[in-house]
Amino acid sequence: MLKYALSLFVISVCASIFAAPSYSDFFTDRACRIDFHFCGNAHQISVYLDGVKQEPFWGGRRKHLDTDLNLGDFRFRVLDSLTQKVIYCNGFSALFREWQSTPEAATTSKSFEQAIQFPYPKRSVVLLIEKRTDFDQWQELFRYNLLPSDKLIDRRAPRKVPVNTICKNTTPDKGIDIAVIAEGYTAAEQEKFYKDAQQLLKNLCTHEPFASNRERINLYAIAAPSEDSGVSVPQDSVWKNTAVGSNFYTFYEPRYLTTLNVKKVYDYAALAPYDAIYILANTSRYGGGGIYNFYTLVTADNQYTTQVSVHEFGHSFGGLADEYFYEKQDVLAGMYDLKQEPWEPNITTLVKFDAKWKADLPKGTPVPTPSVDQYKNRVGVFEGGGYITKGMFRPSFDCRMRTNSYPEFCPVCRSAVERMIRFLTE
Ligand SMILES: [Zn+2]
Repeated sequence: MLKYALSLFVISVCASIFAAPSYSDFFTDRACRIDFHFCGNAHQISVYLDGVKQEPFWGGRRKHLDTDLNLGDFRFRVLDSLTQKVIYCNGFSALFREWQSTPEAATTSKSFEQAIQFPYPKRSVVLLIEKRTDFDQWQELFRYNLLPSDKLIDRRAPRKVPVNTICKNTTPDKGIDIAVIAEGYTAAEQEKFYKDAQQLLKNLCTHEPFASNRERINLYAIAAPSEDSGVSVPQDSVWKNTAVGSNFYTFYEPRYLTTLNVKKVYDYAALAPYDAIYILANTSRYGGGGIYNFYTLVTADNQYTTQVSVHEFGHSFGGLADEYFYEKQDVLAGMYDLKQEPWEPNITTLVKFDAKWKADLPKGTPVPTPSVDQYKNRVGVFEGGGYITKGMFRPSFDCRMRTNSYPEFCPVCRSAVERMIRFLTE
């Protein structure tokens, strides 16, 4: 009898060690936001804490909390202080990481704002921020003991601006929740912003797998007012006072539209539950930007707005890489170490091709795959991608992640986005 009781005890201890963390055991319905700075130069990176906030909504997943999809140049993990078990984790990328590959970073040190959000814990946790050093290797950059009852955690309600629910199909735990923030819309242009946000949803749903998952999308339009209409275009000496202070000409690249004011972005996003943030810029100029699990910035009125908004969301939501490359050296050409397998699901250096789309290659496909008509409409291993012509391979001759003229995501990109949708909503 004693033996029986003991084995039951062993089983229950094992179950509690190996059971996936249950949301309600560890987390409240609110969110915890950590603001920090990435500081350094081409060779160094450090994390400095800026502040901790309690925010009203948690829009993310409530299942499989202790696993992620191995995406992003960085990841954070939240550990229960008592057991040191991982109770939440997520990957993300950063504009800082891109900047590290620019010529400026070789001679200058800089700091970039960054923010992460996770469900607000019920009891003491340890937060780890880690940098990817290889496809499956990580280096700790930052460790912080967070006591949820700490009186100095900022509990101020976010600054109120009008929020229009464009569509709400399901609850945040089962939905792809998208916060769309107005950028460069004056208070008088609020109605235009709501129309543009509606159009953004339509644009997204012109592409699979978003079209067939439309019923899982919740989209909130956050009407952050700007003093000026339009956004800053430094190459034309045009500077505007706008809600999140975005500008073209990031890293001297004319069409690269980003903002460094990440705290402002996340302050507005806090008005809605979200999995992803879109910043919608009120301009007809061509350009945009999207960084995995950080934000997407797109323009409202360009002839390529549909293509660009889906392409950039491919980066920020699906963790997809650019499949394009130029003979002329791109500003981001130094982004990838060709001795390592990149983490993005749609490019490969063939170092760990097993972890990519190798299983999806039709039988008899040559590797690398020649860019000839015979192979142009099927999955292959085409050389050129991730801004470089040699040593990096992409899965399809053409794709939404390569050109504006191609109408859809290639099968590998589509599967990666589908995987993310299932991960967040099921
Ligand atoms: Zn693709």
